[in-house]
Amino acid sequence: MTDNRIRKILIVGGGTAGWMAAAAMARVLKNQYCDIQLIESDAIGTVGVGEATIPQIQLFNQMLGLDENEFVRKTQGTFKLGIQFVNWGHLGEKYLHAFGGVGKDMEGISFYHYWLKMHQAGEAPDIDQYTLNCLAAEQGRFMRPVDAGNSPLSDIAYAFHFDAALYAMFLRDFAMERGVRRREGKIVDVQLNPDDGFIESVTLEDGDTVDADLFIDCSGFRGLLIEGALKTGYEDWTHWLPCDRAVAVPCTKVADPTPYTRSTAHKAGWQWRIPLQHRTGNGHVYSSQYISEDEATHVLLNNLDGEPLADPKPLRFTTGKRKRFWNKNCVALGLAGGFMEPLESTSIHLVQSGIAKLMSLFPNRHFDREDIDEYNRQVNFEYDRIRDFLIAHYCITRRDDSEFWNYCRTMSIPDTLQQKIDQYQKNGRIFRTNEELFNDLSWLEVMHGQGLRPRAYHPLVDALPKEEIAHRLKNIRQVIQRSVEYMPSHADFIARHCPAEKG
Ligand SMILES: Cc1cc2nc3c(=O)[nH]c(=O)nc-3n(C[C@H](O)[C@H](O)[C@H](O)COP(=O)(O)OP(=O)(O)OC[C@H]3O[C@@H](n4cnc5c(N)ncnc54)[C@H](O)[C@@H]3O)c2cc1C
Repeated sequence: MTDNRIRKILIVGGGTAGWMAAAAMARVLKNQYCDIQLIESDAIGTVGVGEATIPQIQLFNQMLGLDENEFVRKTQGTFKLGIQFVNWGHLGEKYLHAFGGVGKDMEGISFYHYWLKMHQAGEAPDIDQYTLNCLAAEQGRFMRPVDAGNSPLSDIAYAFHFDAALYAMFLRDFAMERGVRRREGKIVDVQLNPDDGFIESVTLEDGDTVDADLFIDCSGFRGLLIEGALKTGYEDWTHWLPCDRAVAVPCTKVADPTPYTRSTAHKAGWQWRIPLQHRTGNGHVYSSQYISEDEATHVLLNNLDGEPLADPKPLRFTTGKRKRFWNKNCVALGLAGGFMEPLESTSIHLVQSGIAKLMSLFPNRHFDREDIDEYNRQVNFEYDRIRDFLIAHYCITRRDDSEFWNYCRTMSIPDTLQQKIDQYQKNGRIFRTNEELFNDLSWLEVMHGQGLRPRAYHPLVDALPKEEIAHRLKNIRQVIQRSVEYMPSHADFIARHCPAEKG
């Protein structure tokens, strides 16, 4: 039998996506399987943002075999229990989309159905009072889960905030220690095979040519290989997600870091606040149709906790996805594959998930059509469902104080999202479709937090007497409150386990 294995992989781009891919491949493929090279250009640089994550990143860290405390220390990291949304449903309102569980399921039915019945009757407080991550976040507390039997302390779900530049550096060291070769230089040309259109090699500014069997395009928004060379095409989602610009600036830290990201809606977009150990990251994501860059920058600078530490950095993007993420012998990861604004911190997850899918469908030099189609089907599905979740933040709103919000409130939305909203409104039921990223609890917290109220509740909760439900809800709430009181402050937890070196 001839050996058809991939002999050379070339990763184009050394931002978060490129180094995540390099680290994962170095770990999984090991040095002897094939040669892995990464090319990045110092002159072009990286996008330099992307500092909030979701709990799935723990799987990536585990796959790499990272020591979590070392990882947090080296990236000036903090812990994240969820995202606080301010002014989204209406001006003056806020809610938390928390990671992890809500209450405790009873009689085979999700807790939230019982809560919904009691809440509709005015006999139960808001859902955050039954959610450990919400209460802990509000009180600035954090700890990792412990082995405590039935206690909610056994399954605290968390993610991280980190410095994007330090994260890329951390992964770079990891990958290079495991044999990935790094080359600095600007790619100026791409050669395609004239017969089948597959990529054969790239040419650098100094005239050198680098060939490979498999190309991973991590070149950022420009999509140097997937679009520049292969002309794959892009599906534009601006109609549903109208923000197309951002301006980002770090500022000094003025208080202990909160264990959550904050997203504050403004008149034509929203602002993120990401607390790190040494500084706070901020950015204003906005629609250029409704506000100018100067005004957006002004809004951002007027809403910082501390003093700006750099000049505001403007960024432009088109929300959407590549028509194919894997085309011929090229797989696009990160911004080269597509972009959705960081409202739910999903981009780094999509890189991780793309790498995992590529590993499970890893090709040989035949590049079987079925595997490529399956990869594209899976990644498409994940993108589309995340897109719906993000759109829900914009269209489920009562805000009518600006042209931007009037547009978002009344725009047409995808059928898949409309079905989810209709079903919830009818009787509070939410179903997770296949492996979509956000589960029923995430949808509940966001739809409820944005102000959507169902007209009825799950009929089977009436099988338990109302007094019994009230009694159980009270107990659950007390257990959660006591558990949160047991947790240390987020600042103390970091000081004890993973303080970064003072820079
Ligand atoms: C405003 C904003 C906020 C974000 N916030 C979050 C967040 O909170 N959480 C999250 O998960 N994600 C977030 N993201 C997304 C996140 O930043 C990206 O997913 C992540 O940084 C990956 O970027 P990348 O590596 O694909 O691209 P880049 O960082 O742009 O890297 C591209 C690489 O390609 C190289 N390159 C390009 N052209 C060439 C060439 N011709 N020759 C050689 N090298 C080349 C560059 O030098 C660079 O190394 C955010 C994105 C934006 C725009």
